Amino acid sequence: MHVAAIIAAGGRGARLGAGRPKQLLELGGRTMLERSLDPFLELDLVRELVVALPAELASRPPEYLRAAAKPLRIVAGGPTRQASVASAFEAVSADADVLVIHDAARPFVTRALIVSTIEAAAEHGAALAAVRASDTIREVAAGTGRVVRTLERDAIYLAQTPQAFRRDVLRDAIALGRTGHAGTDEAALAERAGHAVRLVEGDPRNIKITTEADLTIARALVAPPALAMRVGTGYDLHRLVPGRPLVLGGVTLPFDRGLAGHSDADAVCHAVADAILGAAGAGNLGRLFPDTDPRWKDVVSTDLLREAARLVREAGFLVENLDVVIIAERPRIEPHAEAMCAALAGALGIEAASISVKGKTNEGVGEIGRGEAIAVHAVALLQAVGSKQPTAY
Ligand code: MG
Repeated sequence: MHVAAIIAAGGRGARLGAGRPKQLLELGGRTMLERSLDPFLELDLVRELVVALPAELASRPPEYLRAAAKPLRIVAGGPTRQASVASAFEAVSADADVLVIHDAARPFVTRALIVSTIEAAAEHGAALAAVRASDTIREVAAGTGRVVRTLERDAIYLAQTPQAFRRDVLRDAIALGRTGHAGTDEAALAERAGHAVRLVEGDPRNIKITTEADLTIARALVAPPALAMRVGTGYDLHRLVPGRPLVLGGVTLPFDRGLAGHSDADAVCHAVADAILGAAGAGNLGRLFPDTDPRWKDVVSTDLLREAARLVREAGFLVENLDVVIIAERPRIEPHAEAMCAALAGALGIEAASISVKGKTNEGVGEIGRGEAIAVHAVALLQAVGSKQPTAY
């Protein structure tokens, strides 16, 4: 099968009022024409292209058309889309047996849709991409707002391009068009010329850009993803007991008691690990490292935190920043805060400047106020990996 593509880009975009042909408007750094054309250039199945451009552009075509990697001819479009396609048809090589027509105003066409349209045309003679109507369609008396009838929505499909034809079928359609029949597209002409036309399931994203509102939607479709931020919170409390070292945030503090617990009972590392795991939706400390599991007995909590950070990265997130509050009546946290930030940063693989550790007393109130326990709150902000730099399109 020798397939030729005709790209209908002959319009001047008068309806869009953009001051230049709409096919040369940019969507995320590339013109609509390039975006419409590229899938046809990428498909091996398509052997050649003919692009119908407005006459003034056809005489000085954009560089990427001249540099195309497969045979590409440029023709001057006519006053109507139908006339432009007819001119392009004349420029297709004699070898082509299936022709696929696409509007440059549909920049989101996919290779899959092009292929399914071509295959349906090769089998049935003519095929077009179409989507089922989601709005109910009313017919009104011309020039009035009076509804004449409501169409059965299940039987209504909205035509798109690509539309593909066996050469003989398209020849008939174009010949009919030349006798003065005006069709909004070649599939309508082929149908009127007596050929069966098949629908293939179109793509709702394959929108036609005609109005400013369409352009707004199109620009949203190509916009870089919004920064994906996730927040998580963690909390831990351990009892203070004699005969244990006091380890907080990976730092051993000189004190007469330490925190009771299965491991080194570093409540800061535990709260931080829960905050980052929670933000990433990657589980929690109790589930991942149960204290009933002998593997985690006497484990250094900075190692647990390092493992939690690895799981978070695996889930696709980086720790953006971390804020930690240690609630302890004694000892004073402030003299050790900087060392804790450095130790936490090392375990998390981030800058110490992204971490804040501060101490609070409980004003003598309750168990913490009486110095029986130390509690820690942590809040972590994560960013989806790869979203730090806006994606280039
Ligand atoms: Mg704990």
